[in-house]
Amino acid sequence: MKSDNNKFLKVRKFVKLTNTIDSAIALLEGYFEQANLKCEVSSGFRSSEEQLKIIVNKCLKHKVDKEFPLIRAAHLLDVETWREPWGRLLTIGEMVNPPVPTAAPFDYKKSDGTLKKAGTIIQLSGHQLGQDFDISGFNQELNISIELDKIVEVIKKFIDSGMATNHVSGYLKEPVNGCIHIDCIELKLNKF
Ligand SMILES: [Zn+2]
Repeated sequence: MKSDNNKFLKVRKFVKLTNTIDSAIALLEGYFEQANLKCEVSSGFRSSEEQLKIIVNKCLKHKVDKEFPLIRAAHLLDVETWREPWGRLLTIGEMVNPPVPTAAPFDYKKSDGTLKKAGTIIQLSGHQLGQDFDISGFNQELNISIELDKIVEVIKKFIDSGMATNHVSGYLKEPVNGCIHIDCIELKLNKF
């Protein structure tokens, strides 16, 4: 992977990359170096099972398992074990995509305040499509916290420079998850 040589924006062990994500991380390295900011990529490509695990952990953290005990034995293929607990997370402001496209079971409000009705189909996260990654506000190797706004500054410079064209389409500050989520543009490989 091209980002293997990164010294400033390093990828944590066990994070899975796709060529699309790897290219963006390799391009971002120079901008993090310029800012002298040492950060880590904490999440990249996720499988459906990994997405479900995130949902289960958030449910346990917020004690959603008290209302929906089935979540403790969640199974990807048994939608009824995770659909309602996942929907509860949305109602308490924990915005997390389902492991497969799924109708939200309850009304909920998006972070910008707009109401979403029960039955709205929520699509897969860009992580599952292999197009998105997260830069953490915590550097595990150095054991230091980084202000999310400092990371945003670097991303903005990257986007303003024009280097992000064809690689990164946007970002989202996620204080709840302690990271900056980056949306990539899928690499189009040349076909002859
Ligand atoms: Zn993310």
